[in-house]
Amino acid sequence: MNKKDSELEIQSKSCSQCNNTKLLEDFPFIKKRGYRSTQCRLCLNAKTRTRRSNGYYKRIKELRNRPEAKLQEKLTQKRYRQNNRDKMNKYSREYYLKNKRALKLKRAIYNEKNREKLRAWDRKWRKNKYRTCVKFNLNTKMSRHIGLVLKANKNNKTWESLVGYGLDELQSNISKKFTDGMSWEKYVAAEIVIDHILPKELFEYTSPQEKQFKMCWSLDNLRPVWVNDNSSKSDFLPDGRRARNLSKEEKAIFIEKYFNSNQPI
Ligand SMILES: [Zn+2]
Repeated sequence: MNKKDSELEIQSKSCSQCNNTKLLEDFPFIKKRGYRSTQCRLCLNAKTRTRRSNGYYKRIKELRNRPEAKLQEKLTQKRYRQNNRDKMNKYSREYYLKNKRALKLKRAIYNEKNREKLRAWDRKWRKNKYRTCVKFNLNTKMSRHIGLVLKANKNNKTWESLVGYGLDELQSNISKKFTDGMSWEKYVAAEIVIDHILPKELFEYTSPQEKQFKMCWSLDNLRPVWVNDNSSKSDFLPDGRRARNLSKEEKAIFIEKYFNSNQPI
């Protein structure tokens, strides 16, 4: 082999398909693999044409679209994300920072176009969460009920900041008051409700800063009851009288008496 031949050797190679010796640039560089194809462009093009005409790509697509294949693919991706969490986080952070404005615009356009769909999805998510997650259910109910009684006076404050205790404290307090057969599963299934021992109608307040508001919504005045238990319904007091028949003074006396005696009525 003379010098000229060896130079030609470096700049060319033979195709694994047609065996013709061709220039290197006739073998496409496969970026993903980091080396040049072993087949020349002409052979590769012929292969693509054949595969297209005999339905090879169509079959591949169909195989990938099978539900079990899609599930498998999902699991593979999930595993990859789990095993490369730091790398993925770093990548998405960088991508987000680089494309912040475009992404925000894209998201806004998408939200605008799919407003109804997104709203329906959100409703469905909440409904399911409400029926399955005790904390979400408790939180929603407290927020909604306190919002209803205070109306504008709630001033966008959280219910926790108004009543002076939190979700965990509420949950553990109610748990302690469970009677036979009660459970949080039954609570989210709406078989149990949280009841005011002294009915809400007994208390008079216009703002959450007032003592009567705090008393009405205090843990001492809340208990779990079966939804079908009539004794907890309406404005009946523990002694059988109705709150609506009491004067303002009588109501105040009743409340004081209840909160000063450590005996639950
Ligand atoms: Zn070839």
